[in-house]
Amino acid sequence: MARLGGLCHFPVRPMPKFFIKTYGCQMNERDSEQVAVSLLERGYERAARETEADVVLLNTCSVRDMAEQKALGKMGMLGHIAKRRPEVVFGFLGCMAQARGNALFADVPHLDLVVGTQKFHRVADYIEELVEKKRARRMDDPRFSICDTEEEIGSAETIRDHQLKERQATAFVSIMQGCNMHCTFCIVPRTRGAERSRSIAEIVREATGLVERGVKEITLLGQIVNLYGRHEFPSVNGKSPFVQLLEAVHEIDGLERLRFTSPHPIGFRDDLLQALTDWPKLVEHVHLPLQSGSNRILKAMHRPYTAEKYRALIERIRETRDEIAITTDVIVGFPGEEEDDYRQTRDLVEEIQFDNAFIFRYSTRSDTPAATMPQIDERVKEERNQDLLSVVDASAHRANERLVGRDLEILCEGPSRTNAARLMGRTRTNKIVVFEGTREHVGQIFDIHVAQANGFSLYGTPVMQTSSPAFA
Ligand code: SF4
Repeated sequence: MARLGGLCHFPVRPMPKFFIKTYGCQMNERDSEQVAVSLLERGYERAARETEADVVLLNTCSVRDMAEQKALGKMGMLGHIAKRRPEVVFGFLGCMAQARGNALFADVPHLDLVVGTQKFHRVADYIEELVEKKRARRMDDPRFSICDTEEEIGSAETIRDHQLKERQATAFVSIMQGCNMHCTFCIVPRTRGAERSRSIAEIVREATGLVERGVKEITLLGQIVNLYGRHEFPSVNGKSPFVQLLEAVHEIDGLERLRFTSPHPIGFRDDLLQALTDWPKLVEHVHLPLQSGSNRILKAMHRPYTAEKYRALIERIRETRDEIAITTDVIVGFPGEEEDDYRQTRDLVEEIQFDNAFIFRYSTRSDTPAATMPQIDERVKEERNQDLLSVVDASAHRANERLVGRDLEILCEGPSRTNAARLMGRTRTNKIVVFEGTREHVGQIFDIHVAQANGFSLYGTPVMQTSSPAFA
């Protein structure tokens, strides 16, 4: 039998497989996706689990100590793979890599790669180099490693490629990197650097490409998303750069829904409120971090607004749309938080009746101003955490209960995380709806009749009269 071209005389090495685990926020998820695309483009394959991978990457959050400890613990546990298969490349990426740099090599002996937040676009090059060196070396060669946590001008423009799953209809678009606000509890300005924004034209190009590939809902991502472009671009006709960007993305034909996260109360001005009122693709949901209801604590946190201003802003946001959902972040147990400060936070959270909230127990981050302030007892933090969670759970439950019996538009994202036999979608107000459906529902927008609710999710059945041609 003839052989094709004789190529089979050469040993063919399979392309390495990679595994990325992400800890942290949507920005980290987005950064991991960019790294995955760059590896896939070079022919690398995705491994289902770390034990099958030739390259194991942990993209790590630094915002809370717990996330760092989890990532360090996970990498430590992977040492058993390194012993059995010394050719495997192990790397830390992201915020923790940025903050700790070379010191990580001392903590984790089998670590090969540390790449910070402005160098995700270099990861594929570094991995290729390490894979080659590891494959070529004799076992008694000295080990080597790569650490790159340098700043790089223009790095914000490098998070722009997407690997969409079949029927994927939602996507995140990173519009800026970094933050100049310097909240005293936050390590982000250190790990992500100063604010740098991408151009409107580049973002619109990326968003248009996503819509052409079937995406119906885009979420614009930034640490302080509404302050996008304030250093680079002028306001035009009273519109901030962020509102100009929203307008440009809103105009993309075929885009159905537009979200953004997270805005800062500072800079949430009339032009943005007007956009929420006027532009139908902007969904009825705003996530607006509160952090504390005590003016004394807000000042200590270096959050430049008061509880009164926050409350007034919420009222104005609620005037823009019927039934707009508001969610928030709150920190309890910030250094110096007295019972009275906590009571003010609790009262404000109770008064506003958020649709949901992330409650964080303050956790010390080294090299932040709050780390040197007098800390409060962990037990007190935990009590306040549990107490505030009960307030939020009650308001979330009430908000969801009000929707029982109604028909709501959802965008179906795929299988439910808690029960893969069911599907899940999100309402325009960002509420999760779980239902029984078919593969044809995935990626479609249609109405659901809500039959049941708890504090976390709604449950219902698809209504026949849908807006989607798939169900017409
Ligand atoms: S606004 Fe404050 S909390 Fe948010 S990323 Fe910037 S410094 Fe951190």
